[in-house]
Amino acid sequence: MSTLTIDQIVEAIDITCDTVIRNEKYFSDLDGLAGDGDFGTSLATGFKVIKAELPEIDKSAVGAMLLKISMICSKHVGGSSGPIWGTGFMRGGMVAKGLEEVNYQQLTDMVGSAIEGIVARGGAKRGDKTLLDALWPIHEKMQEMDGSDLGAVLAAVTAEADKAIDATRSSVAHRGRASQVGERSANTPDPGIVGIATILYDWCKHYGVDYTPNAAELNR
Ligand SMILES: [Mg+2]
Repeated sequence: MSTLTIDQIVEAIDITCDTVIRNEKYFSDLDGLAGDGDFGTSLATGFKVIKAELPEIDKSAVGAMLLKISMICSKHVGGSSGPIWGTGFMRGGMVAKGLEEVNYQQLTDMVGSAIEGIVARGGAKRGDKTLLDALWPIHEKMQEMDGSDLGAVLAAVTAEADKAIDATRSSVAHRGRASQVGERSANTPDPGIVGIATILYDWCKHYGVDYTPNAAELNR
């Protein structure tokens, strides 16, 4: 079973910051199709702070590091995304409390715990067209795999997020601001799902994992 060191996790977070910052306008434009158009800016504002503080963050344990990231999200990520992403990092960090590296089972449990926290926070259900519609199948795929090849896991979970973009595209949002416009949210992708898929696809590119995306939002 593969393990991830704290330095490898920090690197993945740093790549994530670059992805979020680079896509600030694109993610906001997507959110503007059915929501209030703030998603990209909300997320980028927080991840710019994470990027700036990452070199100095306490890296003695994965849990402590993720709790710090969680606090930055809660404080600096705007709109409804702050509590969602903050809760995700906090719950993942709680699973990794005191660990200097995480094995595949722990990584899978961190994702599961992040999902539980986000569900408890926002009350979204399957098919409500939120980022959970990407995170649930990702977690299930991780549980199915043995984690002996993390590149294979990354390609598989990227495929799940990619599929979630098109699987939810035609549905009407039931949570968040997009739910307030009802039918206008149909036939627009959920920006949170696109965000997760874009982050994972960028990880594939960074780590040299072959993946050919299907959704138009990943083929720009
Ligand atoms: Mg919004």
